[in-house]
Amino acid sequence: MKPAGVVRKVDQLGRIVLPKSLRKRYQMNEGDPVEILVQGDHIILERYRPKCVFCGSMEEVSEFKERYICGQCVTEMNLIPKNA
Ligand SMILES: [Zn+2]
Repeated sequence: MKPAGVVRKVDQLGRIVLPKSLRKRYQMNEGDPVEILVQGDHIILERYRPKCVFCGSMEEVSEFKERYICGQCVTEMNLIPKNA
């Protein structure tokens, strides 16, 4: 981890403006979901990537009934015998 060379103040609502140069560099656009991670004393912002609710995979994830599921789990679910 290295400093981005930017210091910003947190406003009274807890907001921080990400500099345009960083948004452009990391392709963050208005409305993009961002996940907040913590590691020790650090707060890390990361582009949100949905994970499969069953296995945690981020590969081939699609939304189904407001949840996320990966292609592998969809394939495995199709192998489950249906009750008559
Ligand atoms: Zn999965």
